[in-house]
Amino acid sequence: MRWAQASAVVLASGSPHKLAEFRQLFCGSPVRIRPPTDVATPPEVNETGATFLQNARLKAVAYAQACRAWCLADDSGLEVDSLGGAPGVRSARYAGPNATDDMRNRKLLTALADVPKARRTARFRCAVVLAAPDGSIVYTALRACEGRIAREPRGAHGFGYDPLFVVGAGDRTMAELTADEKNRVSHRGQAARAARRFLEHRLAAMPYG
Ligand code: IMP
Repeated sequence: MRWAQASAVVLASGSPHKLAEFRQLFCGSPVRIRPPTDVATPPEVNETGATFLQNARLKAVAYAQACRAWCLADDSGLEVDSLGGAPGVRSARYAGPNATDDMRNRKLLTALADVPKARRTARFRCAVVLAAPDGSIVYTALRACEGRIAREPRGAHGFGYDPLFVVGAGDRTMAELTADEKNRVSHRGQAARAARRFLEHRLAAMPYG
């Protein structure tokens, strides 16, 4: 009975970009992704964790308890090697609380102004955590997407640091990929597919799932 109720899962995030990506990543699944505003007033969560996993756990538990529903949380961000892993868990707050994506990207380019191509290596990381309606954590996945930071923004798709992140050893930024192409390689795409496999496996194991 417990698992049969997981066919609708609330995304523990107010980000329309994350919602769109998760919905696409669960397209064709019996598991439906719902925005938190469908269910309850989203809780305020202080992202005080030192890691993506800790922050994803905080969000999954807080949303599950507020919504009394299965909740999937994503905490993600960019690690730049020559900046000692910054902006890391502070990716959303890198240029202050009210900054735009454009301001964060400009700050990152300034910080890397003198860094040569070979030392511009970076990765996106994503932690996905699934919590049951009682707030217990039942699944976690951690995935990364390697790349490097470009010298200038390129591309019109995606969000956040996508225009600066050159994927793998290629030459296209994440913002130059279509949504499908991004989902195939991205940190979030990999973590969401792992969570989808887990949820569908559990649902399939239920006689009435
Ligand atoms: P969160 O909402 O606390 O997980 O913050 C995530 C932040 O990391 C976002 O605001 C973006 O700045 C950055 N980020 C995470 N995932 C992506 C992505 O797929 N593309 C670009 N930036 C991302």
